[in-house]
Amino acid sequence: MAFQTIKGTHDILPEDSTRWQKLEHIIHDVAARFGYSEIRTPIFEDTSLFSRSVGEDTDIVSKEMYTWQDRSGGSITLRPELTAPVARAFIQHNLGRKSPLQRMYYMGPLFRRERPQKGRQRQFHQFGIEAFGSKFPEQDAEIIAIGYIIFSKLGLKDLSLKLNSLGSGKCRSHYKKALQDYFNPLKNQLSETSQKRLESNPLRILDTKNPDEQTLLAEAPSIADFWTEDDQKHFSHVQDLLSSLEIPFELDSRMVRGLDYYTRTTFEFISSNLGAQDAVCGGGRYDGLVETLGGKPTPAIGFAAGMERILMSIDPQEKSTEGNSVYLINLVESASGKALQVANEIRELGFAVTMDTLRRSLKAQLRDANRIGAIKVVIMGDEEIKNQTLQIKDLTTGEQEEIAESDLVKHFVV
Ligand code: ATP
Ligand code: MG
Repeated sequence: MAFQTIKGTHDILPEDSTRWQKLEHIIHDVAARFGYSEIRTPIFEDTSLFSRSVGEDTDIVSKEMYTWQDRSGGSITLRPELTAPVARAFIQHNLGRKSPLQRMYYMGPLFRRERPQKGRQRQFHQFGIEAFGSKFPEQDAEIIAIGYIIFSKLGLKDLSLKLNSLGSGKCRSHYKKALQDYFNPLKNQLSETSQKRLESNPLRILDTKNPDEQTLLAEAPSIADFWTEDDQKHFSHVQDLLSSLEIPFELDSRMVRGLDYYTRTTFEFISSNLGAQDAVCGGGRYDGLVETLGGKPTPAIGFAAGMERILMSIDPQEKSTEGNSVYLINLVESASGKALQVANEIRELGFAVTMDTLRRSLKAQLRDANRIGAIKVVIMGDEEIKNQTLQIKDLTTGEQEEIAESDLVKHFVV
């Protein structure tokens, strides 16, 4: 039997990679304009990096990680998210000491063992933006604005921004208690998972997709009633800043996000034409994460966006012919060394040059030149080699001219 990709994983074929590259280009470009630098971390890490930061009761850690025992004994996991690895790198390399504000972004594959479906894969890609060092609302607004600008530039359809605040530690512990008081009498109506979460992490119950439980949620206490004065001030300042940037948002006090490390501002960008998996991006403040992982207390905020979902939400763009593609046809076997050299000279001038390596006929090669959208064809036949000339056919006008080999640069530089 022929080999196939593993369930939930996909090839990105050459015909699709142009769209990926455009997406990546916009991300690099916008991140750079905001002064963020790229960080690349390993594909696998210590398992405990994720269990300690993301949280034992989360979907990711409790059932989605690809984990194995290394031959030397340690437990290793394919990264299911990238904020924890970036925070690990921040601590390991003492980045906080190099500069009080560290602005970073990343892009790359992640691995989660979920049920494959539309918008949900087992290997998928995210890009993310993270800022370490500032606790102030300007930083929240900057991070959200970067997402908004990237998604707007990409032309994402029907984009909306949901915003919430999970408050500081004090607010969370009061809210946790209130949720336990509310759900304890209703315990029998909760699923087994939610019953377990009720003890350890009742906020997770708000994440439920179960319709019966969702009905119970309608009457549950709202986190907004538990914000401290500082939480409240921080959150309204973030909202003011977003308004002055004319970034529209909706408040959603039930949005707790799927990971444990969030504090205060949390947000999601939703694209309503994506169907059931409509979240393009999720993020928030994680002021306690660096300390949890053994570093100095460092406020931080960031987001992660699913790249497959972004590409699903934007129009498949037409293949753009860059207008710089040249096809070189050499019909003389003994002159192939020279042909390769001429091709390189034209490349040096900034053109993309394609050559036939199948020794096909002139007609077949001209057809190929048209197929790839070449603007010019350079032809080398017996006569041309002898006279040290080249035939140049302009495929946009159909005109053909003969030039002296020594005029090659002059011809292409005009
Ligand atoms: P969901 O509720 O869709 O499971 P999540 O809360 O697990 O999302 P995050 O961990 O916040 O998602 O990841 C951020 C983004 O990464 C998501 O908004 C989504 O676009 C993308 N994403 C998450 N899991 C997958 C997956 N299995 N396949 C493709 N994209 C994914
Ligand atoms: Mg998930």
